[in-house]
Amino acid sequence: MVAGNWKMNKNLQEGVALATELKNMVTNPACKVVIGTPFIHLATVAELLKGTPIEVAAENCADKEKGAFTGEVSAEMVRSTGATYCILGHSERRAYYHETAAILKDKVELALQNGLKPIFCIGEVKEEREANRQNEVVKAQLEGSLFHLSAEDFGKITLAYEPVWAIGTGLTATPQQAEEMHAYIRSLVAERYGKQVADDTTILYGGSCNEKNAAELFANEDVDGGLIGGASLIAEKFCAIIAAR
Ligand code: PEP
Repeated sequence: MVAGNWKMNKNLQEGVALATELKNMVTNPACKVVIGTPFIHLATVAELLKGTPIEVAAENCADKEKGAFTGEVSAEMVRSTGATYCILGHSERRAYYHETAAILKDKVELALQNGLKPIFCIGEVKEEREANRQNEVVKAQLEGSLFHLSAEDFGKITLAYEPVWAIGTGLTATPQQAEEMHAYIRSLVAERYGKQVADDTTILYGGSCNEKNAAELFANEDVDGGLIGGASLIAEKFCAIIAAR
């Protein structure tokens, strides 16, 4: 899978223009392609991409089902737009909006209950990598929000390993660092759910992945694609990354 994360970029008209470019360019991709857009774009972009190989993701959803939560957008509302995926646990949500493992656990459950497939982000910050604590951090993130799920529900999750020090910084994990962590994540999934589920789990790499380094990252055995921020905002770059998968 190659998934884009537009973050808080592009107004509606600009988003429609980008989705239209992608619709025309991504006609027969060799992998699953998803674009994550702001909430207000979802219905229009999902309608525009209906019948194409490109699926649409929200970048978040509420941790509550419905009711008096002014400004929030529920998983059910997201699904009603035609979006099929939901990015959850992005480091920006964890850091700036204080999303804890427990909150994310609730969001994952609501997404699944409403037929959305979570793209769940995990990864360590710079200080944790420098202290060689990346494995324990990632393990705690999986255990805190996902490992209570049944094997059937876990099978609907796509994982995205995103070292926070590599997001939007131009610093990319080396292919070796990415492969080491992806293999470790897969071993944790195997311990919890067995080898078959682990082999079937899609684990994306995210963090300054671009059209120049994608092929080298994707060549690793345990790297099943990418979650792409900045480079997903330019159709030619995003398409080159899809071609690298
Ligand atoms: C992201 O935010 O998910 C991401 C990977 O961003 P970038 O590609 O810009 O580092």
